[in-house]
Amino acid sequence: MSEINWGDLSFGYMKTDYNIRSYFKDGKWGEPSLETSETIDLHIAATCLHYGQEIFEGLKAFRGKDGKVRVFRMRENALRLQASSRGILMQELPVALFEEMVRKVVKVNERFIPPYESGASLYIRPLMIGTSAQVGVKPAGEYLFLIFVTPVGPYFKEGFKPTPVAIYREYDRAAPLGTGTYKVGGNYAASLVAGEKAHENGYSAVLYLDAKEKKYIDECGPANFFGIKNNTYVTPKSSSILPSITNKSLMQLAEDLGLKVERRQIPEEELATFEEAGQCGTAAVISPILRVDDVDEGKSFVFSKDGKAGPISEKLYNKLRAIQYGDEPDTHGWVTVLD
Ligand SMILES: *Cc1c(COP(=O)(O)O)cnc(C)c1O
Repeated sequence: MSEINWGDLSFGYMKTDYNIRSYFKDGKWGEPSLETSETIDLHIAATCLHYGQEIFEGLKAFRGKDGKVRVFRMRENALRLQASSRGILMQELPVALFEEMVRKVVKVNERFIPPYESGASLYIRPLMIGTSAQVGVKPAGEYLFLIFVTPVGPYFKEGFKPTPVAIYREYDRAAPLGTGTYKVGGNYAASLVAGEKAHENGYSAVLYLDAKEKKYIDECGPANFFGIKNNTYVTPKSSSILPSITNKSLMQLAEDLGLKVERRQIPEEELATFEEAGQCGTAAVISPILRVDDVDEGKSFVFSKDGKAGPISEKLYNKLRAIQYGDEPDTHGWVTVLD
């Protein structure tokens, strides 16, 4: 292969040597197989194509200064995949099988794990689809679970930089009793129109309000929201947001740093009282928020006057990255070192 320029990687797809697959058939998951093909052969009546039986995950592997490879909180991803399966009636994949497949596919693609100095990492994308033919609306009897990996660059090439986000009141991402808490592709389809509009207008993301009352902060399109004030980390409690593993980790680290942590409803007006705000997720860890514009109401909430991230967001970001790369001790048992 031609040399990979680790410094130029973006958050895109690059072909690697292998992906790994397991098929659920006749009531059981089959032995995982490594494949070199980037395509799948699919029945034209598969439920994933017609009725959206698709769920996915996202996690990362990091190469440390010591040369070792660390996978971050993969058990949490395995458990969340199971929750998503239950949410849209797909087969649950055992945690042990998920972990075994992650280890294998990372190992066989080891030459694609970026070096420590690059600040890049290996993105791991597990997904599951309903594969058997079904024309009536019913869950499939057969499933494919697969994982591919691809090297991705550091999210912040020009440093840890705050960006503006938009509230658009004419769109919802997920309903209060819908599928917002599951990592299903359909939620993303539902967010594409608003997301494109945001990007066209110079925003990095849409910040959704709760769909029922349009009163409380829900989450950003692909990331959870948090705010910081009075030495307290505040993040929304809602029945339509995805439980982010990054957010869960940041809550723990905030507590370790002596902050109070509150998970509760956040009325939109409370945005005016936060000293810092951010989006959080696997891709960026933290993407600090410069400003929230409630576009239809003509209101703005500013979190950074000098264009820089706040001190607590920066501290949390550095702390979590240090654990992921093995620069600081993994006191919470979040990291799996591959051998
Ligand atoms: C995946 C995802 C997140 C972030 O979750 P992490 O586990 O931190 O990567 C947040 N919101 C939505 C809607 C997501 O799909």
